[in-house]
Amino acid sequence: PDQQQLILIVGAGQAGAELAFALRQTGSTARIVIVGDEPFAPYQRPPLSKSYLAGKVDLAALYVKPKEAYDTANIELRTAVRAEHVDRSAKVVRLSDGSTMLYDKLVFATGGRPRPLQAKGVQDAPRLGNLHYLRTVGDVDRIHRQFQPGFRMVLIGGGYVGLEVAAAAREHGMHVTVLEAMPRVLARVTVPEISAFYERVHREAGVEIRTSAVVSSIVTDESGDAVTAIVCSDGSTTPADVVVVGIGLLPNTELAERSGLEVKDGIVVDELTRTADPDVLAIGDCTRHPNVMYGRHVRLESVPNALEQARTAAATLCGQHRPHHAVPWFWSDQFDLKLQMVGLADGHDRLVLRGSTSTRSFSAFYMKEGRVIAADAVNRPQDFMIAKRLVAQQSMVDPSRLADESQPLKTLASAPPV
Ligand code: FAD
Repeated sequence: PDQQQLILIVGAGQAGAELAFALRQTGSTARIVIVGDEPFAPYQRPPLSKSYLAGKVDLAALYVKPKEAYDTANIELRTAVRAEHVDRSAKVVRLSDGSTMLYDKLVFATGGRPRPLQAKGVQDAPRLGNLHYLRTVGDVDRIHRQFQPGFRMVLIGGGYVGLEVAAAAREHGMHVTVLEAMPRVLARVTVPEISAFYERVHREAGVEIRTSAVVSSIVTDESGDAVTAIVCSDGSTTPADVVVVGIGLLPNTELAERSGLEVKDGIVVDELTRTADPDVLAIGDCTRHPNVMYGRHVRLESVPNALEQARTAAATLCGQHRPHHAVPWFWSDQFDLKLQMVGLADGHDRLVLRGSTSTRSFSAFYMKEGRVIAADAVNRPQDFMIAKRLVAQQSMVDPSRLADESQPLKTLASAPPV
């Protein structure tokens, strides 16, 4: 009976692709169709601001699965086509090529798009050839034309994407300035100690970091087709040959919202990735979902979350119960530094450092009421492995032992709660 079922996945990103293959692994014999508006097969985005930007890997290395794998698994992949309208009562989706598709189950895996820069002059100059965002392979391919040693690059936004691009550009011999509106970089995602560490590392590498720098307008050349400088609200002007804006993500929720589904900065789903419509699910960056560990709803922008929700959705669609319980984690590569983070630190009442932020290898543990709720590890993969366990178990540990490097972390993870 399953034979006639059609599972339609809207969005050919990492979540969508993982779901399609996970469905086959779980034994689904449904017809599986993925539609994606980019011209490529699903690919991994993290290298876009790292090795792909640096020219160290090509597009083929980014694909989630080789193209043949879709045929082998009997997954229909339709690229360069957009889902434009969803009618949930008729269970039909209209696509940008004019065709329609009837579905039995529909999954939104629509991800997000860059938050647009609001600054005087940007809206008047839609053709700016050297002002870029960074979400897609297409974006990076455009940046590459101006990714030249000696060029002046200005990053608007000192979040992970901005800092990763800054590192790659600096290593490529560019002059790099980061303009961050908040008083410190990474303010949205980490504590002042870690922000200070990254600001120092970037400055030592020759990146100019300017905080509390609120961009107010852009200056263009006579043709109006290129930015020549960025102006901040304090009147300062930063000349630029190329500008990359990394100021956050807007989840692609409009299609779901117009179909009448609940949206709150993310398509609202439960721990089984279901919306209120039993035939419609949503996964990945576009969702707001419950996190059991933290007792609240979150929207996460990370590959591990996209993969985890995809596996949960595959189970749900196959009639299995596999709630999505994963502890959030994330990573970022800048220069020689591998940062790995686990858990959500907000609400912590104590920060414990293991090692020193004056070196290039240390860990930070975030505690709340004596329990480890999150951790960051810089160039400490072993600490990170154990930190994942401590966070997953919300272990009670003695902070002085956590800070004491003569005490192996392993013994803390296995110690009975104090
Ligand atoms: P997406 O990858 O955004 O895929 C959604 C797809 O759906 C897109 O192709 C979109 O165009 C398409 N789509 C949207 N609407 C429609 C429609 N109506 N019809 C058809 N198609 C549609 N995460 C980490 O964990 N670690 C990292 O180091 C890291 N680095 C990153 C660096 C960069 C530069 C970026 C941009 C992201 C990074 N991320 C990182 C985040 C990670 O890439 C995302 O969390 C992940 O890609 C989410 O997958 P997704 O499938 O939910 O969404």
